[in-house]
Amino acid sequence: MPDTEELINRITETGFGCTRCGSCCTRTSADSNLVMVSPPEVRKIMQATGLEWNEVVKPYPETLEAPGGGRYTFAWCLRRDEEKCIFLEENGKKCRIYENRPWICRTYPFMLGDEDLLIFECSHPGNQVSREDAEVILNELTERRKHEETEIKTITKIFEKTVIRPGSLIVIDSEGVKTIHE
Ligand code: SF4
Repeated sequence: MPDTEELINRITETGFGCTRCGSCCTRTSADSNLVMVSPPEVRKIMQATGLEWNEVVKPYPETLEAPGGGRYTFAWCLRRDEEKCIFLEENGKKCRIYENRPWICRTYPFMLGDEDLLIFECSHPGNQVSREDAEVILNELTERRKHEETEIKTITKIFEKTVIRPGSLIVIDSEGVKTIHE
């Protein structure tokens, strides 16, 4: 992984500053605005909105097949309608859960991968990034990565002990195993 100084310089050089255009929250292709969320993030949104679990998220659309015939996935995604994330206001400019939005939304279009900073496409990069802004972005990316690593460790332990019944569809997350009734 590049050192902190290099990461800050690279974030600054992108010239990315969120203009709140809403493009990354809008469905432009099948998976264009698929936002994966962990159970702690879902719980936070539930608390902020009063919505139930299934009103906030759906299982990740692609599932894996277990040797015995059941299907499973490790991820949840924010619900979307035909056009956009359900939390994007009608005018397409404002997130209804902005203060409680998930890590992916907070840090888009950046991600700290295993070995490098990844930068995804943003159609309206807009403003300049100051060094201070880049430091804030890097701090959030570091926190996100720690969160994701903790989630992965917990899910791996649960997965090792999980028996997937034939014909079932389950989501294995950091809270345990959730059966989906289709
Ligand atoms: S939660 Fe907010 S920021 Fe994230 S995709 Fe939905 S509307 Fe956009």
